[in-house]
Amino acid sequence: MSAVRWYGPRDLRVEAVATPRPSAGEVLVRVERVGLCGSDLEEYREGPVSIPPDAIPLTLGHEVVGTVVACPGEEVAVGTRVIPDVVVGCRHCWWCDRNQEGLCPDLPVRGQQQDGGLAEYMLADARTTVVVPPAVELDVAAFAEPCAVAVRALRKAGDLTGAVVCIYGAGTVGLSVAQAALSSSAAAVVAVDPVASRRRLASDFGAIACSPDEAVTVIRDLTDGRGADVVLECAGVPQAPAAVELSRRGATIVLVGFRADRLVLPWLDVVLGERHLIGSAAHLWDEDVTAAVAMLARGTFNPRPLHTTTMPLTETPAAFQHLDQDPTVLKILIRP
Ligand SMILES: [Zn+2]
Ligand SMILES: [Zn+2]
Repeated sequence: MSAVRWYGPRDLRVEAVATPRPSAGEVLVRVERVGLCGSDLEEYREGPVSIPPDAIPLTLGHEVVGTVVACPGEEVAVGTRVIPDVVVGCRHCWWCDRNQEGLCPDLPVRGQQQDGGLAEYMLADARTTVVVPPAVELDVAAFAEPCAVAVRALRKAGDLTGAVVCIYGAGTVGLSVAQAALSSSAAAVVAVDPVASRRRLASDFGAIACSPDEAVTVIRDLTDGRGADVVLECAGVPQAPAAVELSRRGATIVLVGFRADRLVLPWLDVVLGERHLIGSAAHLWDEDVTAAVAMLARGTFNPRPLHTTTMPLTETPAAFQHLDQDPTVLKILIRP
């Protein structure tokens, strides 16, 4: 089968590799769509960021939808369309024993530390594949993974009733967070992004959109100068201090975006302002991915405006060049 393998920065190769064989407890999925995400772009630009040296060359791809073509244990019927969960976990640590695979210190993720879905076929765990209802279109189902990241982040933020919610960074995850927040009983949702086309999308969804330069004024005007009740940082660590600055005393700040970087935070504002800083990483299959699929099926998440284009597997290196050079590109889906 063909697979897109990462050899080094800007060195992706479409190669012929052996089709994997599922063992007990696994399924073989024929991949139908794979989304390219910001973390894939980081690996492309300056990796290895989270690829272990002994896993190179690695098949990227963690936003996958496909159809089960083999399942030795018969847990999932052949022909079922699924989201194969990519957060695997080591299966034997303190956290994995408690169904908290996302906190596993080894955190093997398919497409990041193990071979993923930028290929014709991929392996997944039968236990954690989430079934996609037949009525959900393929190009919609392909957004389940980033939507699951948004679901988890919002859960960490807690009850949004009456809240002024600020979303810092309006990429795929930020815009998904915005849609879910807008369908809640939040008083206002503000999306902050430097890219005009992303702000336009956010305001089409019903958010108040502004650039980073305008954010302080916009949020102060909305809150009598207090700051946002909830801030979801979806841009990455360099912007995290802005998330503190935009929040009110006693606010909740959920950090979703990240880079492998150190950062100076305004500690005094966190401590004396009793702000709650919460990290949110990835998702769990039975809570977040299941919820994301249900919200995509109901239309709470409408990812169609985020879908830039679909390209064949052989053109994946060109797709990464496109992502690298054009900040207006949101989601490219690959069709193996
Ligand atoms: Zn991703
Ligand atoms: Zn573990």
